Amino acid sequence: MTSRKKCKAPRGTHDIFGMKAFGMSLMELKAKEIFRRFGFEEIRTPIFEESCLFMRSIGQSSDIVEKEMYIFEDRKGRKLALRPEGTAALVRALIEHKLDISNPSGKFFYSGEMFRYERPQFGRYRQFYQIGAEFFGNSSPAADVEIIVLAQDLLASLGVTEVKLHINSLGCQNCRPTFKYALTKYFNSKQDLCKDCLRRLEKNPLRLLDCKIDSDKFIKIPQLLKFLCKDCEDNFNTVQSLLKRIGKNYKIDGRLVRGLDYYTRTVFEIHSNAIGSRNVLAAGGRYDSLVKELGGQDTPAVGFALGSERVLFEAEKSGFFSIFKSPEKIFIAIADQTLFGEAFSFAIKRAREGLKNNTDFSIYGPINRKSLRFQLKFANKIKASKTIIFAKSEFENGKVLVKNMKTKTQAEILITDL
Ligand SMILES: [Zn+2]
Ligand SMILES: [Zn+2]
Repeated sequence: MTSRKKCKAPRGTHDIFGMKAFGMSLMELKAKEIFRRFGFEEIRTPIFEESCLFMRSIGQSSDIVEKEMYIFEDRKGRKLALRPEGTAALVRALIEHKLDISNPSGKFFYSGEMFRYERPQFGRYRQFYQIGAEFFGNSSPAADVEIIVLAQDLLASLGVTEVKLHINSLGCQNCRPTFKYALTKYFNSKQDLCKDCLRRLEKNPLRLLDCKIDSDKFIKIPQLLKFLCKDCEDNFNTVQSLLKRIGKNYKIDGRLVRGLDYYTRTVFEIHSNAIGSRNVLAAGGRYDSLVKELGGQDTPAVGFALGSERVLFEAEKSGFFSIFKSPEKIFIAIADQTLFGEAFSFAIKRAREGLKNNTDFSIYGPINRKSLRFQLKFANKIKASKTIIFAKSEFENGKVLVKNMKTKTQAEILITDL
């Protein structure tokens, strides 16, 4: 005998069902509502792209490109990659379709699955979901703040309000090189840096700032904010004054650099502030050179992405989903097998009417070739609130029996009165 091994979901992936599936849909719905109100349009891109797109945009020295991308060759030998994030593909699509990305129409949002080959751990998957928005053509700090507000409003719409906003500025092409130089000098004076840090030191010293292993060794690090040029400094000050004006609290976090190479000026993270949580729920920033880098017009841009699984976890913890009741369940039963067709078409008609009138109920049944006893047992099992029974003598008079499953009482009702 050959043994049949059961296939399992690949490591690092997860199936979404029950309350989580409901939560995921609700989150996407809320996102669409909020994004539309700010004038953002939806865009959907393929889940795989030419791998060179991500190498050019995210950067060769980023963790993602170095070790986390799912890269494969198709049957014709094309080098493809499952998308590790949403922005690069979105920009690629905008350029390809010559979409207008000038202010104020350059506003787009997306949602969908992303892929990164990481060690699976709590809240981290190899296939995960993100929702994001990108604002093109506006270099004003107000656009940065609009994106931050959007991200926070979306979290709040799901009951996630215990959050902390961290912001930083990464400077521009003019001021960042001086800072990089100072950083390289500083890190070169340090002993025993980890393997990753040593490697990154040459390519991108900024990345050492968020090293989890060496962070304790880094004291009196040169502060990027002190190296900002006049323009960048003004910009960052305006971001802060606008945040204050709309009553948003924030924390300046000099070590916030984000993992991607394309960020310029404002970067931010929204952390969960709930007890026992250290999750980054949403993050983003400005990336003024990316569009040009990928072959488009010189276009400023700012955006964010949110990790759906993490946000869902926080929303569940805060009890947000308990306010949603599942719809009333109505079961259609037959006391006589010859009425199956009548009952069946009634069930379909009812369900369609419900859709049209937007009434919140679910229709179950009828079940063919089963006793009424069996059908009523099933109605109880699914916790139906009422069962509509098609029986011969009543049906001949245009009536059905409606049984209240809680009180166990039943009444004859004209079908036309239902
Ligand atoms: Zn600058
Ligand atoms: Zn390190």
